[in-house]
Amino acid sequence: MYKVGITGGIGSGKTTACKVFEVLGIPVFYADTVAKEIMCKDALLVEGIKSAFGNESYFEDGKLNNKHIAGIVFNNEDALAQLNALVHPAVFRAFDAWEETIPANTPYTLKEAALLFESSSYKMCDTNILVTAPYEIKMKRVMLRDNVTEKQVKARMDKQLSDAEKSKMANHFIVNDEEQSIIEQVLALHQEFLKSAEEHKS
Ligand code: ATP
Repeated sequence: MYKVGITGGIGSGKTTACKVFEVLGIPVFYADTVAKEIMCKDALLVEGIKSAFGNESYFEDGKLNNKHIAGIVFNNEDALAQLNALVHPAVFRAFDAWEETIPANTPYTLKEAALLFESSSYKMCDTNILVTAPYEIKMKRVMLRDNVTEKQVKARMDKQLSDAEKSKMANHFIVNDEEQSIIEQVLALHQEFLKSAEEHKS
């Protein structure tokens, strides 16, 4: 099936754009949500995390000890890379299993991932979209949504690739500022993907 990856910086509006695609009937795989879920459910991943970061990575009831993991990977690039090397293949497995459940007459699917480019998972998509928004708008939206300070949002933004870097790998763009309509941009891309998906079949 034709696969479209979608990404963007924190607060850019990628989830909002995905919701519009969902209204159009396009199934969306939310990789970051799935990653959180499978960290407690995928037996292979749980074993990998325990052997890399200790049994204390999980509570007795099987829930992930976020504080323990965050304490190890925060500001430790090697540990973070090790965690990603465990989680990303498990998310790929989950995506494949999810795709099996999608009706065959679905024109294309969307995979939303904050680290689409960083994790190289864009290479497994036929095309991709980068959602962008000006810094001040992203900041305002995230502060409001998560009830956090500018400093906290900036710390999260600084951990991501810049839009300039991501743009080099992007095939399509949605500009989610306060002037251009996100709905119109999604509708235009949807028409384009319907055509590409049809060509992809033949
Ligand atoms: P994150 O990476 O943090 O999950 P995201 O890229 O998925 O963020 P969203 O959650 O879609 O971003 O959007 C961030 C916030 O901004 C949300 O509260 C959303 O409702 C709001 N928002 C997004 N786009 C618009 C828009 N065009 N107009 C008004 N509010 C918007």
